[in-house]
Amino acid sequence: MSCEDAIAAPPPSAWPDTIHLDGQAGTLELVWDGRHAVLSHRALRRSCRCSVCENTRRALDVVLPVADDVRLLKIEPLGPAAMHLVFSDGHERGIYPWTYLKQMAFGPATGGLPESLTKGWRDE
Ligand SMILES: [Zn+2]
Repeated sequence: MSCEDAIAAPPPSAWPDTIHLDGQAGTLELVWDGRHAVLSHRALRRSCRCSVCENTRRALDVVLPVADDVRLLKIEPLGPAAMHLVFSDGHERGIYPWTYLKQMAFGPATGGLPESLTKGWRDE
């Protein structure tokens, strides 16, 4: 590997080894170092941290209301450490850092995050 390759490559701890988007099941499967995580599209949509969603959560102080059948349509890499998610309800403003998705998937390191946000991570 040349020096240039090393610089261009994302940090190994951030980018998952596998990204599998399942539109039928409504899940996003991610694998980091052999650790599997399956996140539902609904939970991902509810966990959007754009200013609009943050404000809605703060105002209502509840889990962000989204349709049960909302689907993740597209994943767009955003630099080495994050991605942009495009949802079927037209929402495409959310930036999801890999570290944030890891917290969602594996917890329990949710310190400092409001309950109205972390509650949305789980499908009840
Ligand atoms: Zn949002």
